[in-house]
Amino acid sequence: MIPWNYTQFKQIAQNILEDNRKWSAQGKVADYIPELKKGDPNAMALVLASRDGSLVVGDCDRLFTLQSISKILTLMIALEDQGPAKVFFHVGKEPTGDPFNSIAKLETTATARPLNPMINAGAIAVCSLIKGKNSDDKIKRVLEFISMVVEREVTINAEVYQSEKETGHRNRALAYFMKDTEVLEGDVEDVLDLYFKQCAIEVSCEELAKIGLFIAKKGELTNGRRMVQRDTVRLVTTFMVTCGMYNASGEFAINAGIPAKSGVSGAIVAAVPNYLGIGTYGPALDEKGNSISGVHMLADLADQLGLSIF
Ligand code: GLU
Repeated sequence: MIPWNYTQFKQIAQNILEDNRKWSAQGKVADYIPELKKGDPNAMALVLASRDGSLVVGDCDRLFTLQSISKILTLMIALEDQGPAKVFFHVGKEPTGDPFNSIAKLETTATARPLNPMINAGAIAVCSLIKGKNSDDKIKRVLEFISMVVEREVTINAEVYQSEKETGHRNRALAYFMKDTEVLEGDVEDVLDLYFKQCAIEVSCEELAKIGLFIAKKGELTNGRRMVQRDTVRLVTTFMVTCGMYNASGEFAINAGIPAKSGVSGAIVAAVPNYLGIGTYGPALDEKGNSISGVHMLADLADQLGLSIF
């Protein structure tokens, strides 16, 4: 790993962004949530955040929704609220090899538990473990938590939330199935409401990199204040490696080797332990649902800065 050098890194980041612009044309913006169709397939941003500051290149002024990236944050909250034993009673620790929204293994796995907290079924089960009277109370806690990490009061994109709430039939199916098998606690629609809201929280690419830095710093804010236990971050970082990039996590671990989590809005957050937080944005997705420019930028960055943890 080379030491943080703003000018040198900025040049490297700029070159990487331009070199990978070509990929966007080969990807496709997610359209199964109607509001996400509005994403600009040509937009691209890359942000690196370290203890010494952050550098931004590309279309960094845009806000986008966290989508699946919210899963790592709600998992942290649930682990802090309930402890690992209770969380892992409801959700497993293994990659699935299936698409993120697959229902198949819920019925065929002996325990009926979703295989991990990064797939939709697992994340919905995790929602039911967050403490609070109802989904309003719980989402308030989630928003407060993320606002502390990114140092801005984050909000929900109402259109994206509404759009997913109206069309999230598959997520509803997963949730009702898990209610039947007693994996899910509480009122199903209330749990789903929290899930749809957490996915619709808006951030910028710079804020994404701050989330990455928070993870890289094992749960400490930039002011040194500890927000979650180190062990919580250790668990979440491990899931990022094994399941963070959908069913392309193995390939990404080989090509980039950085713990990362992606979302169907085209965002990816990555964390190089004790060193860097990285945010990438590019709404054109590959066939696995990862930002096509994002995965290539991260692989190049890892290569040029020696960032692989392996
Ligand atoms: N809100 C999305 C869904 O549930 C999140 C998926 C993702 O980003 O992977 O389908």
